[in-house]
Amino acid sequence: MAGWVGSKNKLSYLSLMENRRVHLKKLMLGAPLAVSSLGWLSNCKKEDLLDGANFNGKVLIIGAGASGVYAAELLLRKGVDVQILEASSRAGGRIQSADIPGIGKLELGAEFIHGSRSIFYDMALSQGADSLMPDEGEDLYWLENQIRDEKYMRESPTLNGGGQTLFQIVDSLGSYPGGDQSLLQYLTDFPLEQPLFPIANALIANDYGSDLASIGMFALRDAEAGFSSGLENYRLKQSIWSLFEKKCPNALSKILFNQEVVQVNYSSSGVSVETAGGAVYNADRVLITVPLTILRANRIAFEPALPAEKQNAINNIKMDGGSKYFMRFSGPFWPDDTASIIGGQVIPEYWVIPEKDVNEAPGLTAFVTGPLQEQLRVLPEIEQRNLILAELAAMFPSENVVSALTSFYVKDWSAEPFIGGAYSYPSLLSAGQREPLAAPVSDRVFFAGEATNFNGHQGTVHGAMESGYRAVLEILKS
Ligand SMILES: Cc1cc2nc3c(=O)[nH]c(=O)nc-3n(C[C@H](O)[C@H](O)[C@H](O)COP(=O)(O)OP(=O)(O)OC[C@H]3O[C@@H](n4cnc5c(N)ncnc54)[C@H](O)[C@@H]3O)c2cc1C
Repeated sequence: MAGWVGSKNKLSYLSLMENRRVHLKKLMLGAPLAVSSLGWLSNCKKEDLLDGANFNGKVLIIGAGASGVYAAELLLRKGVDVQILEASSRAGGRIQSADIPGIGKLELGAEFIHGSRSIFYDMALSQGADSLMPDEGEDLYWLENQIRDEKYMRESPTLNGGGQTLFQIVDSLGSYPGGDQSLLQYLTDFPLEQPLFPIANALIANDYGSDLASIGMFALRDAEAGFSSGLENYRLKQSIWSLFEKKCPNALSKILFNQEVVQVNYSSSGVSVETAGGAVYNADRVLITVPLTILRANRIAFEPALPAEKQNAINNIKMDGGSKYFMRFSGPFWPDDTASIIGGQVIPEYWVIPEKDVNEAPGLTAFVTGPLQEQLRVLPEIEQRNLILAELAAMFPSENVVSALTSFYVKDWSAEPFIGGAYSYPSLLSAGQREPLAAPVSDRVFFAGEATNFNGHQGTVHGAMESGYRAVLEILKS
């Protein structure tokens, strides 16, 4: 994969998404780590971005998420005239830091900084090393109707070595040698006991944003092989969005809210953009950063139509739904030092909300994407809650889980009118499609956003920021 970052390593998928897996951290200690070429971009302050580039036109940016805001800040610091049009009434997109009554301060969307070699990490580090909280703890596995530990996964004779095999599979996805097939098909080639499949679903597919049957091996291999930001995970002590507010103040002052773009006309020398409310904005260049769902649903009409190669990429890369459930309890019923509980069939992964304040009640986050999320979200909220509590009660039968619940809050990203899901994933038939998705059209229409990241960082905040940077380079050179 010709990612513009240029540096790759062989870190496993487990360095990606919600990995807080101590065993894999240990496994990967000796892995070669790529040196970041991005550190100098940290905190939106660099003045050396393409020195000598002489673009001085006006740029419209569609969408005020991580990619759009970061791109705008870079352009503004180069003296370029920028306007951001945001469909909703808030900035941040899939970053949403909130203070929910009864639940506390939470990240309703992105929560982890994946790895220490990225623009996002550098931006956070510029606030001081103590603003970062490394993700720590042990993972538990819900297997054969019992909560098991990693040792059991690796050594239990009842699994016939399947647990160990699964960890090895997970660890070598980036060098997958076979033909294109679904991840589910691939796993059935191995002697894995059936109870390990929900664990595989949680470890790989759910984190990537779908289920085992929907992930394609070629696209997964490329994502794994390209991922280079590192395998540690961090949370921020402050909120993620407040970091962007501090580091990208110029961009934030350029956002016009409630401006849903429905048409982009690039048939003449510049671009003309129309909103659902009938407002028209003219510029020299336009940068589209909307979620893939918006493009897939043709909610922005392009005149002339987008080239066939780009339209194919839009059709082939998939983005499913995703929800986070936040629960507080009168007391913890999970063992001390638990990081995650992996392998549920209602919720593939639960993780413990780290204590930021001693007065906070213990809490769990439940994270579900793909078809499981789609089945769950259509139920009345009380039924969703009951199913989740029933699963937790089965996992911890000696505790009264149900009566311990003190508050419950759901964030369903599929229901967000201008997001419509979690994040793009390595779907079947999507290998090689992200570069055409990212490619500029007629040197006037540019594309950024997590789905356009083709170096393995799709579906992340740093991947979205990197795509914004790539698009800024393209615009400045145009
Ligand atoms: C539940 C969840 C958990 C996640 N966890 C993590 C994590 O722990 N770590 C991590 O790194 N990443 C995580 N991610 C992924 C990360 O949040 C995204 O990859 C990133 O924030 C996407 O940024 P973006 O700029 O590409 O898109 P977005 O943030 O979606 O921004 C696009 C913007 O475009 C706007 N828009 C849409 N349509 C229009 C239109 N027609 N006109 C104008 N504006 C429009 C939207 O309102 C939105 O504000 C998570 C995502 C979700 C949903």
